[in-house]
Amino acid sequence: MERLGGGIMDNCIFCKIINGSIPSDFVYEDEKVVAFKDISPQAPVHILIIPKEHIESVDDIDETNSHIIGHIFEVAAKLANEMGLEKGYRIVNNCKEHGGQSVNHIHFHLLGGRQLLWPAG
Ligand code: 5GP
Ligand code: ZN
Repeated sequence: MERLGGGIMDNCIFCKIINGSIPSDFVYEDEKVVAFKDISPQAPVHILIIPKEHIESVDDIDETNSHIIGHIFEVAAKLANEMGLEKGYRIVNNCKEHGGQSVNHIHFHLLGGRQLLWPAG
C-alpha cells in the first residue's frame, strides 16, 4: 500500500470512507477522527471511531500517536452520552489476526443499547 497525502493509504477501506470515496453514515467528525455506523451492526448502537491518520493497529501505538487514542475515548464518551447510553456501553478494539481484526486501519467499536455479554469468544 502507498501512503498518500494526509496519512491516507490507498487500498484501505477506512481511508476511503474518510475521503468520501466509499459512502458511510458519519455521526461525528473533527480534525483528528471520524465516527460512522458499522455496516453490520451487532447492537442497537454500533459506531466505529477511527483516526484520520492511517495507523494499522494498537500494535503501532507509541508516544508519537497515543494522544489520538485518548481523543478517541473522549469522542466515544461524548457520543455514548448523545446516544442515550446512560446504562452503559462497551468499547472494543480487535488487534491483528488473533484479536479478530478484519480492517487494518485502527478502529474502536462503540457498542450499546442492549445488555452485552462477557466473556468475548
Ligand atoms: P474488526 O473486525 O476489524 O474489528 O471490525 C471491522 C468492522 O468494520 C466490522 O464490524 C465491519 O462490519 C465494519 N465494516 C467493514 N467494511 C465496512 C464498510 O465499508 N462500511 C462500514 N460502515 N463498516 C464496515
Ligand atoms: Zn486507512
